[in-house]
Parts: sequence; C-alpha cells; structure tokens
Amino acid sequence: MLDYSHKDWKSRAAGLSFRNQAFIDGNFVDAASGKTFDSINPATGEVLAAVAECDVEDVDRAVAAARKAFEAGHWSRMGPSDRKEVLLKLAGLIRENLEEMALLDSLDMGKLVKDAATIDAPGSAHFFQWYAEAIDKVYDEVAPTGPGDLALVRRVPLGVVGAVTPWNFPLDMATWKAAAALAAGNSVVLKPAEQSPLSALRLAELASEAGVPDGVFNVLPGFGETAGKALGLHMDVDCLAFTGSTAIGKMFMQYSGKSNMKQVWPETGGKSPNLIFADCEDLDAAADMAAFGIFFNQGEVCSANSRLYVERSIKDAIVEKLIARAEATQPGDPLDPASKMGAIVDEAQTQGIMQFVEEGISSANIVTGGKRVHVDGKGCFVQPTIFDDVTQDNPLARDEIFGPVLSVIAFDHEDEAVAMANDSIYGLAASVWTDNLSRACRVSENLNVGTVSVNTVDALSAQTPFGGMKQSGFGRDLSLHSLEKYTALKTTWIKYKAQAG
Ligand code: NAD
Ligand code: MN
Repeated sequence: MLDYSHKDWKSRAAGLSFRNQAFIDGNFVDAASGKTFDSINPATGEVLAAVAECDVEDVDRAVAAARKAFEAGHWSRMGPSDRKEVLLKLAGLIRENLEEMALLDSLDMGKLVKDAATIDAPGSAHFFQWYAEAIDKVYDEVAPTGPGDLALVRRVPLGVVGAVTPWNFPLDMATWKAAAALAAGNSVVLKPAEQSPLSALRLAELASEAGVPDGVFNVLPGFGETAGKALGLHMDVDCLAFTGSTAIGKMFMQYSGKSNMKQVWPETGGKSPNLIFADCEDLDAAADMAAFGIFFNQGEVCSANSRLYVERSIKDAIVEKLIARAEATQPGDPLDPASKMGAIVDEAQTQGIMQFVEEGISSANIVTGGKRVHVDGKGCFVQPTIFDDVTQDNPLARDEIFGPVLSVIAFDHEDEAVAMANDSIYGLAASVWTDNLSRACRVSENLNVGTVSVNTVDALSAQTPFGGMKQSGFGRDLSLHSLEKYTALKTTWIKYKAQAG
C-alpha cells in the first residue's frame, strides 16, 4: 500500500478541476433546464462546483440512450471475456487516478483523504476488477429434463438498470452497483447523492475512456425528489438498485408499484449492535474495534456499530477504554494526513446529529464528546460521543443517527443481550466478541442480521454478500450473488428427436 502520511494534499487539491455536467450518451452535457446546484465542501463551507441539476427530461434522455445502447448490443451482447477487458482497463484507470478520486470524495463529503486514498478509491478499482474477472467464469444451467428435451436456463441482463446512491461512500456505492450491473451486460443510469456527485462523474469519464460504449453508463447529478423520483417512476427502467435511508427505500418500492413494476433492490439503514461478552480475552482489541466501528467515516456508515451491549462485569472497563479512544479520535482537517476523523457531510446532517445528542443528554449519561466543533474556524464537525446507561427504548438506541455517537447498554445474560440486539426495525449487521466457540456460533445464529462479524467488526469483502434483513432492505451487493439482481432467469426449451430416423 502506498504511504500517504506525508503527502501535501492541499496543494494537490488546489490544482484539481471538477466534472460538473451530466454524463449522458458518452458526453458531458448541461441539464435540459440549464439549472445547477452547488456542491459544497463540508469541511470549509466552500462551493466546489456548480453541478448540472438533472430532472425528468434528463432522466428521459439518459434512459433512452441507455435503452438504445442495450438494444444495439455493443455492450449487452459483447462476449464476457471482452467485457472483462474493458472493465479491467477501467480498474486500471481508477488506480492511475487514485489520488484524484480520493480527493473528490474527501472534498465533497468530508471523509479523511487518507481513508479515501487507502480504502475507498482502491476499493473501487478492486471491485471493478473483481467483477471483470468473474464475468467469464460464471456458468449457466442445463435443466435435468429427459431425452428429447434440452432446457437451457440462463442469466440474461435485464436492460436498463437505475442506481440511486448515498453520500457516505460516494465512489464505492456507485461502484458496487455499476460494477456488477455493467459486468452482467446492462446499461446503467446512476443518480449519485446531491451532497457528493463529483466522483461518480469522473468515474463515468474513466469508464468511457476504458471503452464502455456511449449510452451504457450515464450519470445524472440532481436531487432525490426530482431526478431520483423520475428514475424510480420511469416506465423504461427495468431495475432500480438503491442504497440510502429506509424511508426512501420504501418510496422506491411504491414508485415501482405505480409505474412498470421494475425490480427494486433496497439496501437501507441500520442500527447495528456490537455484543461484548466477559469471556472475550482481548478487551483492548474489542475496544479498538468498537471505537472503529462507530467513529470510522464519522459514524456515517450504514453498518456502524452504534449500539454497544456489554456484559455488566466488564462494562465500566470497556467504557473507560472507549473514552480514551474517543478522545484520541477528535475531528480535524480531512486533507491533513494526521487527522483522525473528518467532517460531517453537510449542515443538515450535522444539525440532525446534534439534536440526538442534545436530547440524549437528559435521558442518558454522556461520558465524552457531545459538541459540535470547528476546524480552522469552519465546517461541520462533531466530536466522537459516547452515551452510557442508555435504555433500550431511548431514541439513542432505536434510531439511526448516522454520526459518531455510540450508545452503551449493559446486559447480564446472553439471551437478554441477543433479545435486545434483535429488538430493532433494522437487521443489517452485528458484531460478537467472545472466545467461547459455542457462544460465538449460538449468538451468531440467533442474530437476525445480514452479516455477523465475530471478534471483528464490519467484516466485508468482494467475495461475500453485503445487505440486510428486516427494514435494512433485501438487496445484496458484492459477491457473485449481486449478479442475480441484475439478471433475469431465461429458459430456452429445445425439443429434438431423441431417435435418429
Ligand atoms: P437518502 O435516503 O436521503 O438518500 C439516498 C439517495 O436517495 C440520494 O441519492 C437521494 O438523492 C435519493 N433520494 C432522496 N429522496 C428521494 C426521493 N424522494 N425519491 C427518490 N430518490 C430520493 O440517504 P442518505 O442520507 O444519502 O444516506 C444515508 C442512508 O443511507 C442511511 O440510512 C444509511 O444507513 C444508508 N446506507 C445504507 C447502506 C446499505 O448498504 N445498506 C450503505 C450506505 C448507506
Ligand atoms: Mn458536498
């Protein structure tokens, strides 16, 4: 891995230019209305770029281009090995432009540039490479029919895939959708979050440079209630892959029902529990990872371990360790490689987090943090915050705060811990810390979530599916399973004469 610890990111950022138009049918174009909106750096409040504000007409144009490209077949009927070469080239271009991609996300939504440069941007290249390499190694089926019948069961691309993504990992969320959907042969129309459109626009340009044909990958910056809704309601979009909040995920299911019954794959909110048992041997490791699980990316992680259930006998010791870690994770300039935590995505999100904190102060025991702060006199920053003695019915334990705010709850028995962990409308992820193998297996089995991490947090890889249960949605990103979302099963049944003559 490259060492970015001494890089002068500020001068690199000063020389950066931004793609600020929509990318439709292989070209950067203004919105049909000519309107723009400001993309803002939350660490400074500066306007980075005036970006095309797409709406219904632009969605129509992009979907028409995507459909035309799909039917022309230059991508959809290209051999998988050839599609692989193009996507491998794209992965290489992302690596060549790694620092730029990292800066775009850091500037646009406040994450630490060193994380963007070592996690998000290399992750994007890795996921494109992974799907590229996979696509000419997946086989279809021949059904076990009798003689005289040959039934081929194939996975075929759906057509036009709409993708609507959030701002917390702008490049990676766009990648998770686009890499799998493109690998499967679809055309894609992506609407990134209005808080962070810049990296997706550059990605589209790199995809074009890599050889993705015109119209196959389109990016429409704009707002949810306009561009996002238009994509959700479009009569010629076959599938809508969504990552974002549960409330909006439900809207996409309604849009589908009101329009053409497009497939909708929601990956939505979370309130993930982390369970630490007294028989966990390495409490320092548990505390390190519990802190990482809630403070990484300013806590703006769908699977953030925001509820910490600790066995009562070790609770005070764990809380003490967590306070020390929180105090060492104070926010700073996202472009400074020495900073430990970045800026919150925007003013509205910052105020939302602070409202939870202020209301929490009277109903739970705040042990560290709790303040909004400025860095160099500016920006949207919140201290890492821990509440102890939170009760299960407190909004701090129920609602997704999506910020660096941890709620600690003590438990006495395993069953009680599991019951409280499962007492949530969400079911995205959970963590379990114990060195008792039977307990690790039993508790993992009993947690109603998409991913259980045992003696770690947020386990994730290209090789394993990521997604939730309950109101965390039922879409799955990553792994070969994600290809299922972007393909339909198609049977071709061939009758032949089993006997000659
Ligand atoms: P959000 O739901 O507000 O927005 C997500 C996307 O939906 C954005 O592109 C937005 O423009 C669009 N949108 C908003 N309103 C819309 C509407 N009325 N119609 C159509 N589109 C609309 O979420 P956010 O604040 O950007 O992201 C945070 C949320 O994302 C959190 O709830 C987090 O848990 C979730 N998330 C989930 C996962 C996962 O994989 N499960 C991953 C990352 C983030
Ligand atoms: Mn922004």
